[in-house]
Amino acid sequence: MKISDKVKEEFFNNILRTNGCWFWIGKKQHGRAYLLVDGKRISPRRISWQLAHPDEQFDENFILKTSCMEKDCVRDDHLYLSMRSYSNAT
Ligand SMILES: [Zn+2]
Repeated sequence: MKISDKVKEEFFNNILRTNGCWFWIGKKQHGRAYLLVDGKRISPRRISWQLAHPDEQFDENFILKTSCMEKDCVRDDHLYLSMRSYSNAT
């Protein structure tokens, strides 16, 4: 996914940067943070990850979790890829 300057700007306008975490203060639905990109809802964590890894293709089999355990954290170096679990979906 190519991140346009507009999306990048919107991403940075919707986070609160602290010395530790970067907290998402933008839109949410049912507790899930999102950013509208071309009419599609994209996770800000994914945008953060993609900005940090511009040459890598995001694999849909993975989700992004945070090592700091902060639900709203979107800081790229707190993110790690985790295999999506289909078996215990609730
Ligand atoms: Zn964090």
